[in-house]
Amino acid sequence: MDRQSKTDAPVIILGAGPAGTTLSMGLSAKKIHHILIDQSEFPRDKICGDALSGKVVYALNRVKPGVVDRIAEDNERFLPSWGISFVAPNKRRLDIPFTTDKLKHKQAPGFIATRTHFDSLMVEETKSDYCSQYFGVKVTNTAIMKDGVLVETSAGKHTGEIIVDCRGMQSSLARDYGIEMDRDHYCAGLRQYFENVDGMSDEGYIELHFINDVLPGYFWIFPMTGNRVNVGLGMLSSSVSKKKVNLKEEFNRIVKEHPVISKRFKHAKALETVKGWGLPLGSIKREISGHRVMFCGDAASLIDPFTGEGIGNAMISAKYAADVIEEAIAHHDYSHDVLKVYDNHVYNHLWPELKMSHQLQKMVRFPWLFNFVANKGHKSNEFKTLLTAMFENVDLRKKFRNPRFYLRLLLNK
Ligand SMILES: Cc1cc2nc3c(=O)[nH]c(=O)nc-3n(C[C@H](O)[C@H](O)[C@H](O)COP(=O)(O)OP(=O)(O)OC[C@H]3O[C@@H](n4cnc5c(N)ncnc54)[C@H](O)[C@@H]3O)c2cc1C
Repeated sequence: MDRQSKTDAPVIILGAGPAGTTLSMGLSAKKIHHILIDQSEFPRDKICGDALSGKVVYALNRVKPGVVDRIAEDNERFLPSWGISFVAPNKRRLDIPFTTDKLKHKQAPGFIATRTHFDSLMVEETKSDYCSQYFGVKVTNTAIMKDGVLVETSAGKHTGEIIVDCRGMQSSLARDYGIEMDRDHYCAGLRQYFENVDGMSDEGYIELHFINDVLPGYFWIFPMTGNRVNVGLGMLSSSVSKKKVNLKEEFNRIVKEHPVISKRFKHAKALETVKGWGLPLGSIKREISGHRVMFCGDAASLIDPFTGEGIGNAMISAKYAADVIEEAIAHHDYSHDVLKVYDNHVYNHLWPELKMSHQLQKMVRFPWLFNFVANKGHKSNEFKTLLTAMFENVDLRKKFRNPRFYLRLLLNK
């Protein structure tokens, strides 16, 4: 598709995190000219758990096949991950592989890498004749008019047909469109890198520790390459306020005093101070497009409310944004009527899982229920296989909502 003469480019993408870069790759594949702006120069850090789930692999395979192979071959920066360990409030541990058939997979279902590395790789992959890049340039103002858009930055102005805001939770435009921070649908998160933590899995299992004082939320320990570990704590913001939790004190207390976890940090060395960032959760549906504007990733509040996973959802939303933009350009129609098809695609794909995760997040408020499931899982291999299958299949996860599921467990059926 040719560059349109009256604007700098048809599409202006604000932010080059996972959402912005995925969208850029998707648009380049469709030969659509676009501008990609980020306030940072890359590589740059982003506070995150650094876990790249199967959804990241899924989205990348759809927008740019071959990138996942590069990730899988990069053993120095990307650690393959084969499963997840849940530790219940009663300290019972459930190790659940991501796949029921490991031999079937030539690559691991997930990976763990610092965002410095992952986001740089993503930015590297956006380089194309269709993408004009402005990094180290801050977006200062946006204007959405009847017949075009204008983006003002610290380095100049750009005109286009449509803005796609991928600026994460800092997006002021998203707030203008009503995608606001709501403590019941928002999580506070802390991260600290360590090295030399004992007892890490050989198969890159990520660990979620559900601890009574920080429910609904969890403490995580995610293995990384080079004997480094991403350690963090996330908790629902409304519960942080209600229970008057000082998250940083709680984090340090767990590392230093928790009867099981603290022992694993005996020889560990912190590599940085504790850092915090917010997680806008996708536990309610929102309008994520408007006239000549779309929101992807954290700017659209799409993080999984149970697992805290947002990278994969950001990338999936960006993939759909590219598809809808292609249609809008083909018809020279950037009205909300055309663009709201994007909302439908995103929620048709993600809502069943987001809804389920919201319910699981609510259930985690009842530690006895979690303990009960963990006790059963600990004893029964059959049940563990069922949990793995549930990981692979959202429909199976619906069983968690059904009281008969617990009755059957109780009766050991
Ligand atoms: C503590 C914590 C742990 C997490 N752990 C995980 C995890 O393990 N796995 C997972 O999948 N998700 C995790 N998440 C969620 C994940 O980090 C986000 O969902 C993901 O980064 C969203 O990607 P994005 O592209 O939408 O936004 P971002 O990654 O936030 O990218 C936004 C980009 O916009 C740029 N930007 C912002 N403002 C401007 C401006 N004015 N001008 C120009 N550029 C601008 C920023 O520099 C940035 O590069 C975690 C989040 C937190 C806070």
